[in-house]
Order: sequence, then C-alpha cells, then structure tokens
Amino acid sequence: MVRAVRGMRDILPQDARMWRHVEDMIQGVIASFAYEEVRLPLLEFTELFARGVGEATDIVEKEMYTLADRDGDSLSLRPEGTASCVRALEESGLLYNQNQRVTYAGPMFRYEKPQKGRYRQFYQIGAEAFGFAGPDVDAELIAIGAACWKALGISQHISLEVNSLGSNEARIAYKEALVAYLTPLKEQLDEDSQRRLLSNPMRILDSKNPATQGLLKLSPQLPDFVDEESKAHFQQLLKILDAMGITYKVNPNLVRGLDYYTHTVFEWVTQDLGSQGAVCAGGRYDGLVKQLGGRNTPAVGFAIGLDRVVLLCELVKLEVKQSADLYICVLGDELRSKGMILARQLRDEMPQTSVRLHMGGGNFKKQLKRADASGATWAILYGEEEAASGELSLKHLRDVSVGQVKLRVEQIAQRITSSI
Ligand code: ATP
Ligand code: MG
Repeated sequence: MVRAVRGMRDILPQDARMWRHVEDMIQGVIASFAYEEVRLPLLEFTELFARGVGEATDIVEKEMYTLADRDGDSLSLRPEGTASCVRALEESGLLYNQNQRVTYAGPMFRYEKPQKGRYRQFYQIGAEAFGFAGPDVDAELIAIGAACWKALGISQHISLEVNSLGSNEARIAYKEALVAYLTPLKEQLDEDSQRRLLSNPMRILDSKNPATQGLLKLSPQLPDFVDEESKAHFQQLLKILDAMGITYKVNPNLVRGLDYYTHTVFEWVTQDLGSQGAVCAGGRYDGLVKQLGGRNTPAVGFAIGLDRVVLLCELVKLEVKQSADLYICVLGDELRSKGMILARQLRDEMPQTSVRLHMGGGNFKKQLKRADASGATWAILYGEEEAASGELSLKHLRDVSVGQVKLRVEQIAQRITSSI
C-alpha cells in the first residue's frame, strides 16, 4: 500500500464531523461580520511569496514546496493566504480607492517538522480588510476572533496578546539597534537566532531558548522605538478592546514571522496544546500592497490555524452532531423500494435531519445494532406488520423513557422535529 506523505494528514469521518462543525461556526461568524469570500489558487509564482512574505523569513528560506512547471516557471504551493489575497484583489482592480473585507479558507503547505499541531499541509481560515487605516478595523478583526472562540465554546482556553511594531521606519530603527546590541553577544545565542541575526533579527524575540531570552532582557526594547502616531493608533485600539470587554495582554516581544507587518500585531494563544500554542495570528501590513507592486493601501488581517482549533475543541470534548439523526430499519426485500420512498419523504419533510436507510438485510435486532452504532437518535422499524397497519414504530435510541411509539408517516416528522 502506498502511504500518505509525511506531514499530510487524512481527516477521516469521525474527525471530519468536528472539522465541519468548526469550519461552519468560524465561517458563520465571519459571514455575520459581512466579510465576503474569495477563493484562491493553491499554486502561485514563487516570486509572489519571495516578495510578499519576505526572502529572509523561515517560510521562504526553508519551508516552501517549490516546483518547476512544464514551462520552467517556478511555482510554489501557497504557504499562507495573505500574499495571494493581495495579488488577486490587486490584479482585479479591487483595491485601488476601495474598501474590501474578505475571507478565505483552505490548505496551506509548509515543509516543517511534523508534530502535534504542526503539519506540512495545514488549514487556515483568514480574514483581511483593505483600505482602512484606523484602529477600528484592527479591533473588528480581533472581535471576529473573540466571537469565533465564543461560538465554539473555547474562549476560556484562549487568550489574546497584542503589540505594536510601529511604523516601517520605527521597525527598521529598532532592528538596527537590536542587531547592534546582539552582534557582540552572537556566540551566546542559540543556533537559529545566530542565523536570524543576519536574516531576520526581529524574529529572535520569538526564541524559546532560555539563554537567548536571558540576553534579550537587557536588549533595546521595541516600545521605546515606536513612533508617536503608532502609539496613538495602538492606544485607541486598546481603548476599543476595553470598551468591548475583550481582555488582552500587551506583549512587547510579540513579533510576526512575516516581514510585512507594521503597527498592530496580535496572536490568540492557548496553554493547552504544548508548544504549538498560537491558534490565530494577525496584524496590520500597510506596506504589503505596495511591496507587491500596487499602490499604498492600508491593510490588516488574521489567519486562524484550524488544525490547532480542532485539537482544542477535541480537548474540551466539544460535542458535535452525529452523521445520522434517524436510522430506518427495513425488513424484507418487498419493502426495499418503499423504504427508499419513505426515506425520501422524511428527508423532504425534515431538511435539517439526516436520514440513513439500512442496507444489506438482516433482522431488526441486527439492524438496530447498526442504528445504535451510527449515533442516530431515532430509529424507525419498517416491516410487514408496519406496512400492513400503516403505522411505523419510532424508537428513541438514546432515552429509554421515551421508548417506542407507533405513528403514521405524517406524524413522524412532527414528532422528531418537536423533540429537537
Ligand atoms: P508558528 O510560530 O506556530 O510556526 P507561524 O507564525 O508560522 O506559527 P502564521 O504564519 O502566522 O504562523 O499562521 C497563522 C496560524 O496558522 C498559526 O497561528 C497557526 O495556528 C497556524 N499554523 C501555522 N503553521 C502551521 C503548521 N505547520 N501546522 C498547523 N498550523 C499552523
Ligand atoms: Mg511557523
């Protein structure tokens, strides 16, 4: 048997139910903020990510799945959604002088070390807003996240960290100061950080290495470099969050791995998934559209890591709907087509209810075992006796006190829907 590629997971029926639930809830919340969906290709020119994510980022340096197509063009499987999103809207003339609030969803690909919560094909749902410079839209995006966790019932496991990187100039000045401070200490840094000192020094702040973190205690501090305008933007954002009752922690060491962030950055984190603690990350990237060849366009967005949200939902034992609500047991070959017709009628009458028709014969006892295993709440027994009397037996499979009742077909839908 050929096996799945390392880091690429199958999501099998039992897990897929949870995935479907999580996706529906999150996409429902985002739609309730009237963000519009965009569907983007999985493959882009490699150059898009080199320019849009940044040559010096881990993603572009060592995590992309890059291939040459038959014309020799270098293409990459998308490692994230923002660059594609900007490309698509800019290419269609939807950014210039306009506001856009959009959402995307789907798989992303990064060649990382697979472990729990970290895969080579993983899934994100993102939201991006273009054309808004103020802190209100930063707050709105954070509010979307908060609403998602609430809808899923996982708010108490997730907390919010925020920071401001300041303007592009502030960020550059800070970067220089940080490099000046760390260069003489280079030998004491962990290996990754030594490399980043040259390529992407701000990412060193992210380091989990205790020795590196120790050195950073006395390093120049980002907030001291943030310009007044950015500070005001950040203070206004915090004020809106306060007013909305969204709690947060200002984390001055919070930076993003992607080069294009300015001003607000934020991360929703959990303590419950080990070191893969970030479930959603976002921020403002006012410089990106221009960097990709468009005009200056303020922009801000986030990406939720679905794999980790699903893990969290499993951890808190979030209940999701079973695949079948109603299982129809049908006895005897003569009733086979009548069973089909009955199932059709019930599906028509109860579009919200899933109806699984037994197939493959067997007595009622065997069929009821299958019904039980399907997770269905109800079973219908449809045999010769029922066909003759015109009354079907409806059995509650989860609550013995409800037991079994005889009902006419027309009464069944009402009985089931009134119990939901
Ligand atoms: P990390 O620091 O965990 O590598 P990141 O900074 O690379 O995360 P982003 O590029 O900001 O992550 O992506 C947003 C979210 O997507 C992350 O917060 C995380 O939940 C999820 N994510 C990123 N990479 C992976 C992966 N390889 N597997 C599963 N989820 C991921
Ligand atoms: Mg990463």
